Amino acid sequence: MAEGVLLITGASRGIGAATAILAGRAGYHVVVNYVGNQAAAETVAGTIASAGGRASVVQGDVGSEADILRMFAHADAQGRLAGLVNNAGVVDLSARVDEMSLERLERMMRINIIGSIVCAREAVKRLSTMHGGEGGGIVNLSSAAAKLGAPANYVDYASAKGAIDTFTVGLAKEVAAEGIRVNAIRPGIIATDIHASGGQPDRVAEMEASLPMKRAGTAEECAKAILWLLSDEASYTTGAILDVSGARAILP
Ligand code: NAP
Repeated sequence: MAEGVLLITGASRGIGAATAILAGRAGYHVVVNYVGNQAAAETVAGTIASAGGRASVVQGDVGSEADILRMFAHADAQGRLAGLVNNAGVVDLSARVDEMSLERLERMMRINIIGSIVCAREAVKRLSTMHGGEGGGIVNLSSAAAKLGAPANYVDYASAKGAIDTFTVGLAKEVAAEGIRVNAIRPGIIATDIHASGGQPDRVAEMEASLPMKRAGTAEECAKAILWLLSDEASYTTGAILDVSGARAILP
């Protein structure tokens, strides 16, 4: 059984919620972060508790350092941190680069890149044997978009996820001798609310026929990969970026 506290950002819906439910089953005390949807976060925590697991809920915007510090203080109050899943992420409406406002770009980078790096910073302070910690795991959420570039859709988002790939490799090397493994998954088209939030509610249905497996992936399929990367089964896997894309984007 897994032990300790696992903080999952953006765990009220989608991939984060599926990861939280599996993590609860695996034995972690799951900290379910959300930004606006408290009811959904409470439902995830309730699902974990009714299966005999432990979970708590914390509001916080990963675009805010103050909120991140508060989220980690909440996690500390639950017990020893064992890991972090940097899952919270956003897309914006389809646009060309020559249509993107500075405000949009700053939001995209603040939530998708800086938020993940600041969360990882706080996790390393707690997990690193150099700081008296017992080690642990960090899993970042990249995207197949990092390889595909997402032209005329959201090159800004794709670029942010490219940064997550580089961050994963760099941090993995930086803390490899300190008991921390840092990995990422690169989901392809996964059936969650994110497509509707980018103004494309029918994206999954429209794309399925063109996908190599003729279907989108599920949040649970991503969650299983994340839980494996966190587990001792992956004890020599660090700095890895695992494609969970049904072969959508497997070329470098
Ligand atoms: P989703 O269904 O849209 O859910 C997003 C989650 O993130 C929600 O729990 C939301 O909380 C939370 N969130 C949004 N902004 C936040 C913020 N500023 N601070 C804290 N939490 C925030 O997303 P998803 O599809 O599961 O995506 C999860 C991750 O996978 C993202 O990093 C995404 O880029 C990546 N990904 C997804 C796909 C895909 O096809 N779905 C493909 C590749 C990569 P509320 O419920 O409170 O709003």
